[in-house]
Amino acid sequence: MRTALVTGGSRGIGAAVSKRLAADGFDVVLTYVSKPDAAAAVAEGITASGGSARALALDTSDPAAVAAFFAEHLKGADLHVLVNNAGITRDGLIARMKDEDFAAVINVNLVGAFTCLREAAKIMMKRRAGRIVNITSVVGQSGNAGQANYAAAKAGLIGLTKSAALELASRNITVNAVAPGYVETDMTAGLADAVKTAFAERIPLKRACSPEEIAAAVGYLAGDAAGYVTGQVLGVNGGMYM
Ligand code: NAP
Repeated sequence: MRTALVTGGSRGIGAAVSKRLAADGFDVVLTYVSKPDAAAAVAEGITASGGSARALALDTSDPAAVAAFFAEHLKGADLHVLVNNAGITRDGLIARMKDEDFAAVINVNLVGAFTCLREAAKIMMKRRAGRIVNITSVVGQSGNAGQANYAAAKAGLIGLTKSAALELASRNITVNAVAPGYVETDMTAGLADAVKTAFAERIPLKRACSPEEIAAAVGYLAGDAAGYVTGQVLGVNGGMYM
């Protein structure tokens, strides 16, 4: 059975992606950092419906932890898919943004994705097959006031995606990004109603995206139908950015 690794699979988009890839026949390894119970519930839900999944702890912002995780849990696996989904926000205007808030977002959203991609690529290169999907954001394409750290990390992820796609194509590994717009998850739940309304008004389809709609895009890029697609950024944003 081919394995798919989903970082940050305990909640939101990562949980939906984990369920989708399990339904598509992958043995899913989903990771969490702070919510073991939520992650275990996602894995149990998958196994209860006939799929294969396990939840494991991994702080993707710690390069040594990422290397140890791959050595311990994935060395002998038929790792076919990596979804770099783990992400955080630490919003604030530039003039008041603390160094640690800039660094934390870069470390989880960009450095963590790079180290996971590097370790996964080593396994996939030997097998001469693989699919890597990085979850970026519409904000990495358009910028966003109050999110300089997040937008920089997500734009960096797009550059990483294209560079890795070029490097790994000869080994039959595709690397793509999915760029969600506004998705209803814990990440956006704390926004004020006025901000949510303002977002909805900017979306031509006039509604928020569901985590399952992002998972569908990931499932496509991880599946056989997307074998000739690499280096692309698939916007799933209701027309918010074109
Ligand atoms: P979420 O509900 O806040 O979930 C975040 C996930 O990332 C959780 O599983 C969390 O684990 C994990 N995580 C956080 N820090 C981590 C770390 N240091 N190491 C490993 N895992 C970590 O977020 P979401 O809305 O589903 O977002 C998922 C991805 O989509 C993110 O990359 C986000 O930037 C991107 N995105 C979201 C939206 C949106 O509107 N929601 C839009 C565009 C892009 P625990 O549960 O264990 O804490």
